[in-house]
Amino acid sequence: MKRSIAPAMTRRRFYAPPAAFGPDEKSVKLSAEETRHLRDVLRLQSGDEIYVFDGAGREFHCAVKAIAKNSAELRLIAEVAPARPESPLHLTLGIALLKGEKFDLVIQKATELGVKRIVPMATERADVRLRDREDANRRLIRWRRIALEAAKQSGRAAVPEVAAPHSFDSLLLMPAASETIDPANVSRLMFSERDGRSLAESTHGLDGERVEIVALVGPEGGWTDEEIRLAREHGWGIVTLGGRILRAETAAIVVLSLLQHRFGDLV
Ligand code: SAH
Repeated sequence: MKRSIAPAMTRRRFYAPPAAFGPDEKSVKLSAEETRHLRDVLRLQSGDEIYVFDGAGREFHCAVKAIAKNSAELRLIAEVAPARPESPLHLTLGIALLKGEKFDLVIQKATELGVKRIVPMATERADVRLRDREDANRRLIRWRRIALEAAKQSGRAAVPEVAAPHSFDSLLLMPAASETIDPANVSRLMFSERDGRSLAESTHGLDGERVEIVALVGPEGGWTDEEIRLAREHGWGIVTLGGRILRAETAAIVVLSLLQHRFGDLV
């Protein structure tokens, strides 16, 4: 299959996971939900051309071959560059569990802001306690769906990973996500409205082409002194942005924007 570049603005983009592609990459099948969108909302027909991204960073120009009740069969025309390129910054957001709507907002905005991974985190003062595994799973399915929709809308062909909720302690010890980035260019930052240094000081010396940052944002009630102490003890940089105390969801958006500006693609 040949590679080609197509204009990004006019694309009608659909999602299909890698497993929905035929083994020879000549065809792909859309889910019932994507098929409904294609047929009932956009009123597309066989022969129409669309774009399909696989959530792992690849995108394809396709033609509709056949539309059934619960699936649509597409023929791959060419692999294309994703509608929007991925940021070179490998950015993970660790965010304390916030109440429903606020957490949904953070997932959506974090995806628009180009994070690669979101890790929900239980902290001492988190606003939400997960009742059981089922509760956690239900939320996870919802968050992953929000990330997928936001990726689709913002032109990303890669959908950020939304990890299962972690305890604060396990997040502190989480290994770097990218094996290809020089450990000297991996930085772990805990954002706190008190007791930290400026972002410039905390990221001093971090200047490679490819940087990985894990950024932690706390709950509405903030971090406990013990959590800040533990993070510091495990080598995390504590960062206090000058100015005001931000709400957790504002802080998440601001932190990701600043980091993408300094080390990524919001230039
Ligand atoms: N309840 C706390 C504030 C918590 S704000 C208090 O009133 O003191 C929620 C989270 O947003 C914090 O845990 C932190 O991660 C982030 N945050 C808010 N303002 C910040 C700032 N000025 N600098 C760095 N992080 C901030």
